[in-house]
Amino acid sequence: MFTLAIVGRPNVGKSTLFNRLVGKRLALVDDQPGVTRDLREGAARLGDLKFTVIDTAGLEDATDDSLQGRMRRLTERAVDMADAALFVIDAREGVTATDRVFAEILRKKGNPVFLAANKAEGRAAESGLLDAYSLGLGEPLALSAEHGEGMAELAGMLRPLI
Ligand code: GDP
Ligand code: MG
Repeated sequence: MFTLAIVGRPNVGKSTLFNRLVGKRLALVDDQPGVTRDLREGAARLGDLKFTVIDTAGLEDATDDSLQGRMRRLTERAVDMADAALFVIDAREGVTATDRVFAEILRKKGNPVFLAANKAEGRAAESGLLDAYSLGLGEPLALSAEHGEGMAELAGMLRPLI
């Protein structure tokens, strides 16, 4: 089954997107060997596409100074487990220093990486969306995980791979 990892710094909307893709078909995988409780896996459906999606959960709970290191390790593991990664940024906040660190890691991976600028509903997101081009990961997909915008475009991006 094709597997997509959703990665990015805390609060950009990864879990909101995960929940939208998985709906009620969420499968917790804490008890599977080799999968830590920091990763959540679910059966995603997007239009006619079916695939497995991985959310990097639990990062929000890490408030110590190793957060960057944990984020990095989790991101790398999720991406290595997956066939492709969806790197999510917050279009309202624009590109942050942490986003640039992630982008650098992801650019070095062999797996395909897609870039999504979430919270893209409304005009507050316009400059963040333009900023996203500077990450060197191609054209950003404008998403609103909360409002369900950009889902057809996301499906269009993934379809050739699935
Ligand atoms: P995560 O930490 O990356 O998993 O982010 P969450 O999914 O927990 O979302 C963080 C916050 O962003 C929550 O308050 C969400 O309601 C909000 N959020 C998520 N998606 C959107 C969106 O498309 N637009 C807006 N405006 N807010 C969003
Ligand atoms: Mg989350």
